[in-house]
Amino acid sequence: AKNRGKSAFQRFAPEMKEVSQERLQTESLLRRALEMQEFELRFQPILRLGDSRIMGAEALLRWNNPTLGMVPPDRFIPLAEETGLIITIGRWVIREACRTVSRWQKQTGDPVIMAVNVSPRQFRDPHFVETVSAALQETGLEGQYLELEITERLILDNNLETDRVLRDLDEMGVRLSVDDFGTGYSALGYLKNYPFDTLKIDKSFVGDLNRDSDDTALVSAIINMAHSLGLKVVAEGVEYQDQLEFLSTERCDYAQGFLFTHPLNEREFLLWCSDHMDG
Ligand code: C2E
Ligand code: CA
Ligand code: CA
Ligand code: CA
Repeated sequence: AKNRGKSAFQRFAPEMKEVSQERLQTESLLRRALEMQEFELRFQPILRLGDSRIMGAEALLRWNNPTLGMVPPDRFIPLAEETGLIITIGRWVIREACRTVSRWQKQTGDPVIMAVNVSPRQFRDPHFVETVSAALQETGLEGQYLELEITERLILDNNLETDRVLRDLDEMGVRLSVDDFGTGYSALGYLKNYPFDTLKIDKSFVGDLNRDSDDTALVSAIINMAHSLGLKVVAEGVEYQDQLEFLSTERCDYAQGFLFTHPLNEREFLLWCSDHMDG
């Protein structure tokens, strides 16, 4: 019966077979990507709205493969999650991000912060806290200059370990931020129970500002709520001047988006920062 099912499957959905072969191929390319040094980080500045100074950068992963070209994270991170490869890749990201920001600090003397995305599977790795502390130790970076971005969905999954891991990281002085805020399941209680420092308003809300009055009200309410809980707020996906003006009026703390720049490689990032500081 199993064989019959398979052949029927292949007869009626031949494209499914191709998809899974493509997946397998991508997976084996992905497995080799680390040793071939095909991963790169891009950096997108995060600006303080009060004085327009650079607070730090978000590290964004890119996969530069000779066959596939430049693969954006949305196209390989889900597969890396499923296969568990994200743990090794994520370890590289954290180390590389710490190395880079500690180099910037030495070069510029500015206390910039590096924000790093952490996926659920990576966060649940029993060695995760150890990975972070090893990266800090190796690079001599103080915990306060590393911010880990954790999605709202992970926190709401309500895993007993989550609490302990967040507290361990907080004790190491690492900053914690809630990414994609607003896209989860609207249980807000966790915000006061966990040691978060920052809340990142999802770009889907920022995109509709000024066009959708519900989103305008929502963003303004999120900012006020975050502030009353002692959290800083980053608006991501800021593309237009009027969005920025609205966010400033609402006392949003930081902003990030194409209005300022796309994610940059290290050389471009340093140039951008020095231009930005002069101008
Ligand atoms: P994210 O954490 O929400 O990151 C912000 C995404 O928005 C980035 O896409 C960035 O390039 C894009 N973006 C920045 N400014 C604007 C804007 O003004 N408008 C619009 N429409 N988009 C903007 P990117 O680099 O393609 O990354 C996509 C997602 O992949 C990230 O979403 C994050 O969830 C994930 N990701 C990226 N790097 C890593 C990583 O190192 N580890 C893990 N686990 N996930 C990562
Ligand atoms: Ca993020
Ligand atoms: Ca903290
Ligand atoms: Ca986000």
